[in-house]
Amino acid sequence: METILVVVKTQRGGVHYFPDADKMDLSHGEYLAHPHHHVFHIEVGIEVVHGNRAIECHALETYIHQWLEASHERIGNDRGDMPSQCDLDFKTSSCEQLAEHIITGLHHKYATDAMSVMVLEDGVRGGRVYWVKDKEDSGGTTVD
Ligand SMILES: [Zn+2]
Repeated sequence: METILVVVKTQRGGVHYFPDADKMDLSHGEYLAHPHHHVFHIEVGIEVVHGNRAIECHALETYIHQWLEASHERIGNDRGDMPSQCDLDFKTSSCEQLAEHIITGLHHKYATDAMSVMVLEDGVRGGRVYWVKDKEDSGGTTVD
C-alpha cells in the first residue's frame, strides 16, 4: 500500500531555555539554563489521500508560521516586511515540545491519519514526534 506525505522544511529563529539544566550534570548546563538563540529547523510531513496537492505545500508552510506566531511572542529581528522572519520566544519549550505544539496546530487545520514533525536546534539536534490516528480511539502521540 502506498502512503503519500506532503512535506515542508522550514526554519524559524527563536529563543528558549531549559531552567533546570544547571541542576543536571551537563557540560553545557549554564548556557542551556539561560535564554539562548537557535534557528529551529522544522520538518513537517502530513499524510494525504492523493498526490495532487491535497494539501498545498506553500499554504502548509505559511500555516506553520502563522500557528507559531499566534502562540508565541515576537522578539527582536522584526523586519516588518518579512514577519515570518522575526524571532519568537519559545520560553522553556524543548524541540520535542515544539514539535508536539506544531502537531496540535496541524490538527486544528488538517484532517489526516498520520503526521510527523521534527524540530532541530540549528539543524543538528532536537526531536521528532510521530502522530498516527488510532482507529479505535481519538489518536495518540509518540515522541522519539
Ligand atoms: Zn537550546
